[in-house]
Amino acid sequence: MPRIQAIGIAVAAMIGAIGPAFGQAPPAPTPAPSPPPFATTKVDGTDNVYVFRYQNHQAMFVVTPAGVIATDPISYGRPQTAQTYIAEIQKITKAPIKYLIYSHHHYDHIAGGKPFKDAGATVIAHRRAKERLAALKGRDVVVPDQIVDQKRTIKLGGTTLELIYTGRNHSDSSLVMFLPKERLIFAVDFNALGAVPSRLAVNDSYPVEWEESLKRTLALNWDRQIPGHPGPGGGRLGTKKDMEEQLAFMTELSAEVKKASDAGKCFDPATKDVRLPNRATLQGYEQNIEWNVHRWCGYWGRGI
Ligand SMILES: [Zn+2]
Repeated sequence: MPRIQAIGIAVAAMIGAIGPAFGQAPPAPTPAPSPPPFATTKVDGTDNVYVFRYQNHQAMFVVTPAGVIATDPISYGRPQTAQTYIAEIQKITKAPIKYLIYSHHHYDHIAGGKPFKDAGATVIAHRRAKERLAALKGRDVVVPDQIVDQKRTIKLGGTTLELIYTGRNHSDSSLVMFLPKERLIFAVDFNALGAVPSRLAVNDSYPVEWEESLKRTLALNWDRQIPGHPGPGGGRLGTKKDMEEQLAFMTELSAEVKKASDAGKCFDPATKDVRLPNRATLQGYEQNIEWNVHRWCGYWGRGI
């Protein structure tokens, strides 16, 4: 045993022996501080762009003299979130909420829009989001009033916001919300910042087309991305480098799974065997890689 370690053990034993003599309970370990349930943050370098976070979901809103453009109500399973979101907006401005724009059709991002609609907002989403939501009739889900097909520009109180469809990726209804002056995008669930997409992120997804969508999104003139989840590193904004890393991960995943599929290895043993050691430093790699291989095996091996 190294000498320093031996001394350490001896000292620890002495403290252990002394502690009870003083009748003191050992100090309780300090719990890690948990973040507040919600927060509103102005995006650095902008005049009027904010991120509203509630627990692990985020939405962007833009404040203009003529009204507010809000996005994703993020109220799934917690209806109080929309009220909190609106109250946070109203701390900044009394201007009306003119728009509520859905990033895509998944409920965890867009359930709970009724208080926005009641406040007079027009609800906008991609055409397929409206079709799906109208058919699903989900609880607490407001069906969009208006649609976007490939592109739509919203101008309000001096702000220009472009709603751009860059193709199927994590869903078939994802809109990139692009602020050209601020060189910012709000993009949800199809670019995990420095992480492997989760099981839920690949469930309803479009391999290969996802890569094309990333390329089209990368071609837009932006520097920073507001993500729909705070992501690794606690709430930073995304960069093109993150998106390039996501694209590289998917390109490699797709090529490796295709090889396994051509060798008759999908789903088994590919889901256990196909691994991307170059990408193992991405957050969530261990937990999620098998699900990603499974989804891509479905695509290459079964045409689904
Ligand atoms: Zn989603």
